[in-house]
Amino acid sequence: MASRVYLDWNATAPLRPEARAVMSAALDIGGNPSSVHMEGREARRVVEQARAQVAASINARADDIIFTSGGTEANAQALMPDWSVGSRTFRRLIVSAIEHPSALAGGRFAAAQVVKASVTGDGVVDLEKLRDLLATGEPALVSIMLANNETGAIQPIGEAAVLIHQAGGVLHVDAVQALGRVPLDAAALGADLITLSAHKIGGPKGVGALAIVNRDLRSSWPLLRGGGQERNRRAGTENVVGIAGFGSAAAAACGNLAHEAGLLRRLRDRLEAGLASLPGITVFAAASPRLPNTTLFALDGVRAETAVIALDLEGVAVSSGAACSSGKVQPSHVLAAMGINQELARAAIRMSTGYATKEGDIDRALEAWRKLSGVLRKTQ
Ligand code: PLP
Repeated sequence: MASRVYLDWNATAPLRPEARAVMSAALDIGGNPSSVHMEGREARRVVEQARAQVAASINARADDIIFTSGGTEANAQALMPDWSVGSRTFRRLIVSAIEHPSALAGGRFAAAQVVKASVTGDGVVDLEKLRDLLATGEPALVSIMLANNETGAIQPIGEAAVLIHQAGGVLHVDAVQALGRVPLDAAALGADLITLSAHKIGGPKGVGALAIVNRDLRSSWPLLRGGGQERNRRAGTENVVGIAGFGSAAAAACGNLAHEAGLLRRLRDRLEAGLASLPGITVFAAASPRLPNTTLFALDGVRAETAVIALDLEGVAVSSGAACSSGKVQPSHVLAAMGINQELARAAIRMSTGYATKEGDIDRALEAWRKLSGVLRKTQ
């Protein structure tokens, strides 16, 4: 049987060998990181080493990092109306319309306190509209992702940060898809809070982090209350094995970023050149700066759900829009926010690559697509 081609790295990335090795060793650590004895201190050492590695991957300080159960929890923790900076509070939340559902849900803000910031047809936040939203009302917590999980479009975070701070607000950046794919520097970005997740960069699933980069930010309302772990910001015994894997994956992904990103860009160009040679293909957000590994495209008239199954039978794993929402046959909220018509949005297929993707994988995916697309178009 021919080997499979995995082109769904934005849904999750296969575990990096470096992460597997440290996780395997960490499984044998018997102690609890909060215990003072030697076994406990060994577990603590592993957690703190990983914290330093994750912090280094975004050029933050180690004690900015709070480990969580993933990007979803970090977003939920970040989006709360309780943050303050001095006497300033943030009683409203502005989220970009293309955020991951875990940010769009608004965290602990009441629905009436949440406003959506619109995006342009190219899939990037409309800064003029954001400026208008900021000007009407009290200081806001604003949540904008660095790179979109569906289109790969990179958002103008630096410019948004200036507008938000000038208006007295604070900025949360969901950098889950950007980590390891584009250089990340917490200070240069201008973010006050940053969400990260391990499994998109070849770490394990179920572990992530919230970086509280702005040290003036205060809150007394952790999502999980109980023990004093994570400096009283996230109760619960640390997931030592997962955290060890996250640290190792972050070090590997970011240590090799320029090289890996170059390879991914070449693969993406090869894929998009192949798609462009076929009639009727639309690549979404093509005019925007994008992640080097993501292509969201559609062939009008071909249902994405059917195409994903047909490609799977040909040995090629891809997704239709966001994997988190696969199973629900709804056009993507990201494409809707970009003003893409429903029919075309229903045809959207995402191919995303990673450190182990080879040219041959791209060629096989293109070959499968060439074979299937004509047939699928006729039968639908
Ligand atoms: N944010 C973005 C942009 C994502 O793509 C995802 C996962 O798809 C998440 C947050 C959620 O992360 P996790 O799966 O670790 O909960």
